[in-house]
Amino acid sequence: MRPIFQPRLVNGPFGDPALFVDILFERRALLFDLGDIAAVPPRKLLRTSHVFVSHAHMDHFVGFDRLLRTCLGRHRPLALYGPERFIEQVEHKLAAFTWNLVENYAADLELTAHEVTAEGGLRRASFNSRERFARRDLAPLATGHGRLLVEPAFEVRCAVLDHRTPCLAFAVQEAVHVNVWRNRLADLGIEPGPWLREAKHAILAGAGDDTVVVARALGGDAQRPITLGTLRSQALQVVPGQKLAYVTDAAHHAGNVQRIVELAEAADLFFIESTFLDADAADATRKAHLTARQAGAIAAAARASVLVPFHFSPRYAGREDELRAEAQAAFGGIVA
Ligand SMILES: [Zn+2]
Repeated sequence: MRPIFQPRLVNGPFGDPALFVDILFERRALLFDLGDIAAVPPRKLLRTSHVFVSHAHMDHFVGFDRLLRTCLGRHRPLALYGPERFIEQVEHKLAAFTWNLVENYAADLELTAHEVTAEGGLRRASFNSRERFARRDLAPLATGHGRLLVEPAFEVRCAVLDHRTPCLAFAVQEAVHVNVWRNRLADLGIEPGPWLREAKHAILAGAGDDTVVVARALGGDAQRPITLGTLRSQALQVVPGQKLAYVTDAAHHAGNVQRIVELAEAADLFFIESTFLDADAADATRKAHLTARQAGAIAAAARASVLVPFHFSPRYAGREDELRAEAQAAFGGIVA
């Protein structure tokens, strides 16, 4: 199975948190946290459609300016999500610049900031370069079960954690995954092309076996109609989708652990902060962070497949093996 989500931590485990998730075949990407993102090439950053910010401590939000700088003048809107007060924080970031000539850009950039309220609602406001990024409040939305974004191919959910300030954890779940056997397509006299994406979308939308899609004939530009039923029985395999979880900056207590385990349940890839060694658990408690041992135990309770520890405290420079080993011992599974 070739996963549709191609996640990459932008910086090393000691660097600012930022997880760039390319979505295969979609020419778009999601970004989890906005620490220093200088290492992401602009052509990739331009694919970003949705940004999910855990909280606005500087190491998680300082990349906002660079993202804005890169996206100014592009057509595609940008949606941002964060915890309580996030709209105000985006508004203040935008207010820190002078926009008197921004109308000269070829395209208008529209940002929509969403903030998850304590009651689980979603407040929204938009900021358009055409209006020099003046704030426009939009009608709030509900987030059933923490759902922030629901699309046919995947959804993004959040949980509100306690970091002595509200902090969001995220999970992104592919609806179903469609595997393609190229050699079996060839047996049917067709080959992969843009039509395959449409076929996948039709499957995700629940289209029936008698639905006809127009495929590309093998070795040419000719078109060949084929039913989803034939494709499904002979060349495509529908399997459960991929799940990623991203958790950082959380105090270790029963409430947080329960919310994290619920959110990250059975994640294929679980990115979780492992900021301190357990020997320094008192510091972790004081700073409302997790230790590597706590992170490993949480990943085990969530039955995650692979654990990716990150957000190591700089005090452990040169000792990252110890943090990984501690997380691994508590997790018992694969640590990337
Ligand atoms: Zn923090």
